[in-house]
Amino acid sequence: MLVTYDGIVLSRREVGENSCFIDILTDEQGLIEASAHGANKINSNLLSSAALFSYATFCLNKNKMRYTVNSAKPKFSFHAIGGDIEKLALASYFAQAVKFCTPSEQNQLETSRDSLVRFFAISLFETLRAGENRTLSAVKSAFELRYSVILGYAPNLVSCHNCGEYTCPRGMYFLPRKAKLVCGDCLNPEFEGERVLLLPETLFAMRNIVFSDLDRCFKFNIGNDAEKQLAGITEDYFLYRTERTFPALRYFLDVSGKSC
Ligand SMILES: [Zn+2]
Repeated sequence: MLVTYDGIVLSRREVGENSCFIDILTDEQGLIEASAHGANKINSNLLSSAALFSYATFCLNKNKMRYTVNSAKPKFSFHAIGGDIEKLALASYFAQAVKFCTPSEQNQLETSRDSLVRFFAISLFETLRAGENRTLSAVKSAFELRYSVILGYAPNLVSCHNCGEYTCPRGMYFLPRKAKLVCGDCLNPEFEGERVLLLPETLFAMRNIVFSDLDRCFKFNIGNDAEKQLAGITEDYFLYRTERTFPALRYFLDVSGKSC
């Protein structure tokens, strides 16, 4: 049976001299492992489509539970990410995270209003463009927080959980474990040790990431101090929800000089 899906290659494993297995992220079937015969031959029409981070329309031959790539039509190449070690490390972290959190043979559109393939494509695109008008750190934060939302872990950032105020002269606090905001007037000693007094820019960025349409969620301006605060909050929030860390994240923090 032939099936056609738009998808992005999250990882690949070489088999023999010329072939490989690729893991393709799709909205319709979650993660699909497919074999790409002869994909490494110089004259193969799969050469670019089976590459890491290739975004393409894949025509697959499905036999029982096994997929083989029949043909593929490239939509966009993120090949240039490989030319920058920090960008490659960050994109690899995104890929490891999505691969870990996406089940096989399960329609992703049933559980999220956002297309996961589109979200991942935008994440790669923003990684590729980072340095022009936003930093890799801001791209990483937007990915971590918005992907948490897609996975069903949306924090309540609308207003104070207790009194409903949107702002407060004594500041707004984020409670990462409870995924809630609480204002300075409602702050309770029981929140000691697990609260973050948000810089106004940090809260603005977090609201933008969570509530904007997908193509706007990476687009926000943020100063150095708030960006650093945002980075700490989103990484902790995402790793706490996924209950693990990722080798590519550690590598990214190493090569970007952000590891402690
Ligand atoms: Zn309050």
